[in-house]
Amino acid sequence: MTDSKVAVVTAFNKPLELWSVPLPEPEPGGIIIKVDAATLCGTDAHRWSGKLHEVANADHPFLPTVTVPYVPGHETCGSIVEMREPVFDIEGRPLKVGDRIISSYAHCGHCYYCRITAQTTLCAEKQVYGASAPQRFFGGCAEHHAFPAKCSFIRIPASVPPPVAASATCALRTIMHSYEQIGGIAPHETILTLGSGPLGLYALAVGIDKGAQQNLIIGAPKARLDVARAWGADAALDIADMPDAEARIAWVREQTGGRGADVVVNCATAGSFTEALRMTRTGGKLVQVAVGGPAPMTVQQNLLFRGVQILSTVMAEARHFHQAIQFVATRADKFDFGKLISNSYPLSRTGDALKAMEELTEVKPLIVTQP
Ligand SMILES: [Zn+2]
Ligand SMILES: [Zn+2]
Repeated sequence: MTDSKVAVVTAFNKPLELWSVPLPEPEPGGIIIKVDAATLCGTDAHRWSGKLHEVANADHPFLPTVTVPYVPGHETCGSIVEMREPVFDIEGRPLKVGDRIISSYAHCGHCYYCRITAQTTLCAEKQVYGASAPQRFFGGCAEHHAFPAKCSFIRIPASVPPPVAASATCALRTIMHSYEQIGGIAPHETILTLGSGPLGLYALAVGIDKGAQQNLIIGAPKARLDVARAWGADAALDIADMPDAEARIAWVREQTGGRGADVVVNCATAGSFTEALRMTRTGGKLVQVAVGGPAPMTVQQNLLFRGVQILSTVMAEARHFHQAIQFVATRADKFDFGKLISNSYPLSRTGDALKAMEELTEVKPLIVTQP
């Protein structure tokens, strides 16, 4: 049994430690990969700062309670180094040592959500990454990662660079789930994306790809909106230029014949829900993706009497991971996905990257996991 390095959160909101931990055998049906790229998202930062504890309660039984020590990172791609028995990818093709893959989360397969409603992200026994004890190797900020059996493994096409493949495993797979919830986009429709972080930029890209007549985005800072414009946003509004919510709502109505957007994808904050609802046209669709940000919030009663379909996206099913990888593989000529990666840090500086994420000075940092 060889040792492998992992970055470990030993106390919330404190610097990380680098541990050498014996690498386990893969479980039957599972896989061990060498991590080629691990990217971080806001959830990693909120988990590290201790804020995610507040939502793991009886109303959210599908969220595990995170205890220290744990290895962060749930956006990971890598190359297979070990399997104990034949394992197949999501398309039924046998996998072999050296293949580059990402993995969905494993779920129990026998509960109400797994068996009856087919909403496996809500399974209380699913095994998420980036929140487990170092000995399990269930975090991306490490030289190696273990994937349990019952996961779906998605092969990465040769054209997709590791950091892009890693970033697709959280933000983009969630957006694929959102667009599945929204349903079809008609050619006359306007899609408004709120937020210009990785979720928002991926939402914009998928919205453009869906063929909407008009794609609007509101976010900050300027550098992210420049990416949005380069990717084809018809109009991008910087909230620094329009800090007043009423003015932003008026701006959206000006772009949409006074109605509001047909579809609003809110990737900004939970606290912007009411603003997002007012930006949605009567009878339109609002999908709430963002869950962080200021709370509590109040919604005026009269805003509910407008026939808006309100949706909420929680993580993603295996098929959305697959769709996300296919999207970055087939749309690289339309969208420079590498622009989402804002910086890179060695494994030993994972704590600095988490801190920078929490302070919003990074969009999506890459952790370079190999020496
Ligand atoms: Zn289940
Ligand atoms: Zn994430």
